Amino acid sequence: MIWGGIQKTSTLDFPGVLSCVLFTRGCDLDCFYCHNRLLIEGIGLVVDEKEIFEFLEKRKNLLDGVVVSGGEPTLHKGLPEFLHKVKEMGFKTKLDSNGQNPEIVKELWQKNLLDYVAIDIKALPQDYKKICGVNGFEKTAKTVEFLNDIGANYEVRTTLYPSMTIEELEELLAYFPAQKLWRLNYFKMPEQYKKDDFILLEQPSITQSVVNENLPKLQKLQPNLYV
Ligand code: SF4
Repeated sequence: MIWGGIQKTSTLDFPGVLSCVLFTRGCDLDCFYCHNRLLIEGIGLVVDEKEIFEFLEKRKNLLDGVVVSGGEPTLHKGLPEFLHKVKEMGFKTKLDSNGQNPEIVKELWQKNLLDYVAIDIKALPQDYKKICGVNGFEKTAKTVEFLNDIGANYEVRTTLYPSMTIEELEELLAYFPAQKLWRLNYFKMPEQYKKDDFILLEQPSITQSVVNENLPKLQKLQPNLYV
């Protein structure tokens, strides 16, 4: 695995679990609003896996969970083995993924290597390429369908990216059966972005007051919507 960073403590990333967050480098999507541009372009810090295990060893009695985030963790061949070792140390594990590798998520879940999964649903099928460079909707939908069908502990997440309209959000929420938890994240301007994406980044995004105004309608489509 190639690691790009460690967040030593988080109370927010793994629901109900005090955890650390480990960031893998590289991604198979290229979302214009990505907040981890250095990670996805493989620039900057590389953290040795030995250092990660030394850190986890010291935190064994202080943390309960480990979140593996990115970039996109499922691109790394060593992920099953890494998760196995982390679970043997007594940690709960959570995977953050863009859902582009349904078979890998399936394998990890079936091997009991995960306690919780968060999958990003980026946009409507026809907008995926514009938003993240790849027509990836079907793969993500397949991953979500698998987790939903087997009753896994999981959530889906959508960033209210600039230019997305409330009608598009409604259409996206209606596309899926009721999810266990669907989290909406408000857009925040990333520190690093590609120059060509600035025009898109400058577009208006859905605000908190627009979500509040439309919440009853949105929650009819997805009752477990969390903002
Ligand atoms: S999937 Fe996540 S890490 Fe990859 S480009 Fe999109 S926002 Fe960035």
